[in-house]
Amino acid sequence: PVTNTSTAGATPMMQQFIEIKAANADSLLFYRMGDFYELFFEDAEIASRALGITLTKRGKHNGDDIPMCGVPVHAADDYLQRLIGLGHRVAVCEQMEDPAEAKKRGSKAVVKRDVIRLVTPGTITEEKLLDPAQANYLMALGRVKGDEDALALAWIDISTGVFRVTSTNAERALADILRVDPRELVVAEPVFHDEKLRPVFDVLGRVVNPQPATFFDSSSAESRLSRFYGVATLDGFGQFSRAELSAISGAVAYVEKTQVSERPPLGAPERDEEGKSLFIDPATRANLELARTLSGNRDGSLLKAMDRTVTGAGGRLLAERLMSPLTDPKEISARHDAVAFLLRESGLRGALRDNLKGVPDIARALSRLALNRGGPRDLGALAAGLSAAFEIARLAKSRELPAELSRAFSALGQLPANLAGHLERALADELPLLKRDGGFVRAGYHDELDEMRALRDESRRVIAGMERDLAAETCIRSLKIRHNNVLGYYIEVTAQNAGALTETPEAKARFIHRQTMANAMRFTTTELAELETRIANAADRANAIEQGVFDQLVAEVVGKSDALRSGAQALAELDVYAGLATLAEAENYCRPIVDDSLDFCIEGGRHPVVEQALRKQVADPFVANDCDLSPFNGEKNGAIWLLTGPNMGGKSTFLRQNALIAVMAQMGSFVPAREARLGVVDRLFSRVGASDDLARGRSTFMVEMVETAAILNQASERSLVILDEIGRGTSTFDGLSIAWAAVEYLHEKNRCRALFATHFHEMTALSEKLARLTNVTMRVKEFEGDVIFLHEVARGAADRSYGVQVARLAGLPAAVVERAREVLGELEQGETTGKAARLVDDLPLFNVQARATPVKQTTSDKLAEALSGINPDEMTPREALDALYRLKAEA
Ligand code: ADP
Repeated sequence: PVTNTSTAGATPMMQQFIEIKAANADSLLFYRMGDFYELFFEDAEIASRALGITLTKRGKHNGDDIPMCGVPVHAADDYLQRLIGLGHRVAVCEQMEDPAEAKKRGSKAVVKRDVIRLVTPGTITEEKLLDPAQANYLMALGRVKGDEDALALAWIDISTGVFRVTSTNAERALADILRVDPRELVVAEPVFHDEKLRPVFDVLGRVVNPQPATFFDSSSAESRLSRFYGVATLDGFGQFSRAELSAISGAVAYVEKTQVSERPPLGAPERDEEGKSLFIDPATRANLELARTLSGNRDGSLLKAMDRTVTGAGGRLLAERLMSPLTDPKEISARHDAVAFLLRESGLRGALRDNLKGVPDIARALSRLALNRGGPRDLGALAAGLSAAFEIARLAKSRELPAELSRAFSALGQLPANLAGHLERALADELPLLKRDGGFVRAGYHDELDEMRALRDESRRVIAGMERDLAAETCIRSLKIRHNNVLGYYIEVTAQNAGALTETPEAKARFIHRQTMANAMRFTTTELAELETRIANAADRANAIEQGVFDQLVAEVVGKSDALRSGAQALAELDVYAGLATLAEAENYCRPIVDDSLDFCIEGGRHPVVEQALRKQVADPFVANDCDLSPFNGEKNGAIWLLTGPNMGGKSTFLRQNALIAVMAQMGSFVPAREARLGVVDRLFSRVGASDDLARGRSTFMVEMVETAAILNQASERSLVILDEIGRGTSTFDGLSIAWAAVEYLHEKNRCRALFATHFHEMTALSEKLARLTNVTMRVKEFEGDVIFLHEVARGAADRSYGVQVARLAGLPAAVVERAREVLGELEQGETTGKAARLVDDLPLFNVQARATPVKQTTSDKLAEALSGINPDEMTPREALDALYRLKAEA
């Protein structure tokens, strides 16, 4: 914002700046001045800091210096990228006329300028600004007066034209938003200030962008949309609820606002049916590290481990599918059919992938062209994409294909062949980045252009030809065509030869006298004058023709956007299927069976990410484990597995791998297992790891309880729940009781399939009471007092926790380990003899006296003393850690 927006006393240019800035207060204003975009006032300060460019001054405003900084137009993309990356929005203000035009209006007149575009994180299209493997969504939240509970989300990727909409509610809105992971979420001002949605907006932070309420008016949505799509009625679009219309309208209004006069080629809004995709709540999405690890990296995520695609569009589609796995067994199985087919037909798959490697980003090139932001290389990309697509379509000729593949291949068949031919004929082999550079139209495509280029490039040769012709015609062998700055081109003959050009009336009419010299005369002809103008204008003209050809090609391309977009989508699908088949082959995955049952039976399951990581470290291979949560399986079986075992035994890995296998199976992939049969999961919940949320002022324990509450309130019989160590963040008895009650509730009320890992061994007693609860444990071997982790899941309960051994492995001082063994022995005896309640009284924590020498305290005495003052049940984890540090210092 400008510090002082009064225009009084400002220069005319500053007045113009201040007005334009006021209309775009929430953006940095890139104000075009010649070859630079200049920023003024606070914008200049923000940008110079963010970009590390020099802050200077230009003139004065109200007596103060005006801070200014600038970026050269040709490098503007790089600067834009950085500003957008930092979450800024930028208004690009161009000169709308030639400065010479302005001068004509008077010496003080200011060049007309206008904002032609707002560059915001959710509306970028430039290749440089976009991540090829990530969709770039702008999302709008819709809500209507009188029905505040019904919310809707509409999201658009203007770089590809994708447009979707779904209904939601306050409770699941955040999960639905995070599933799409938009770069920008626009909401109506009043909604933005609604306290009920505050927690949602808090999580999203800068992504949320409040906009005028009128954008979201559901009643004017229809007229807005018909205007945008240029259609008379929206009947062809299907039915939408009022909240959905509000969201759609908000998204389109924001696109209109940011793109000003250009219209991206959006597809019609498609509805994402509620419940059509596996619901994954936000905490689970983060904890399972589907697309990003908890620390925000792509490396180490499930997506990264699965991605074998070879195109940007394929990578984006894979990510999208992973974020929204399906819930309809038929659709899931259709995807598996496609993967299975390509797994078997490795020859076809290889050829497919080879051809796909050369396919450029068709959808994004198309959008840039439609937005008038494209260049010759975008046309080139379409040409190359089309020819690769035809090549690929040929691979499937006369083959029996599964439905998904045959659909994709037939979409390729719909691609406009004549457009491809036209582009190929029209475009040169080497293409410049910018259309204004010219030189991108192929020789032989346009007669006049060829002529112009010949004139421009070979003017000498053309003149020489004319000279030769004239000399022959007039029989004056010394006739010359020369050039100077005063006359331009002229014909020169010696004085004695001049008669031939002046004597006959025809000659007189043809040769126009220009100048007489001492012994020579100079003439011109209409022909020569014309040639001269044409030479002078040839470059300009050639350029203009090229621009015309460009515009015509763009119009033709944009006219075919629907077919091009579905072709691009088909290529992305083929890339995804071929990638998943490649993954299944390389990683030895199996085809899962997904049906309507409530089974969950995985034989020889592995963790897809840990398995690959272990292989890289040449460590021991990953140990495969079974998991069976199916309702009945002959012997007693359970929907809930209660998993005990020492820390480091592999409990979390096992829990996560089963959730990941479900996600992979339902998104259409093969899975890391020997065999897998899953009744489709409708919702996936997890409470794993201690994801601290201290920044928002909640303790670890509070976060854990909030997440647990969400699960117990929402999980249905069809859901899959994984819970890791709940109750850890509080005292032992509190923790145990909460964990205990939670398992009972899951078993009796939710009746879902669940895996529950705990370090409370007491809980294994629950299996006596709960018919569908099974105890399992991570097996370990003891060897000379040490533990060896086998990473094997076996029926039964862990007999002990091996905490002391693990502590030893971690390097606790030998004296502490030794003493801990003693204490443990006593405690365990206390337990078996039923004296648990008096345990602490009976057992002096450290037998200090017996060991102390009267004279000097030994280290272990000091430790013992320090330890006796500690009551773990009353400590927070933080205090316990501090105590451990103090003990360590004593030793
Ligand atoms: P816990 O949750 O019981 O503390 P983790 O699941 O964190 O244990 O596993 C500890 C380590 O053991 C992991 O870093 C992993 O590398 C290894 N691990 C876990 N499961 C397996 C397995 N099935 N095969 C091989 N290594 C495993």
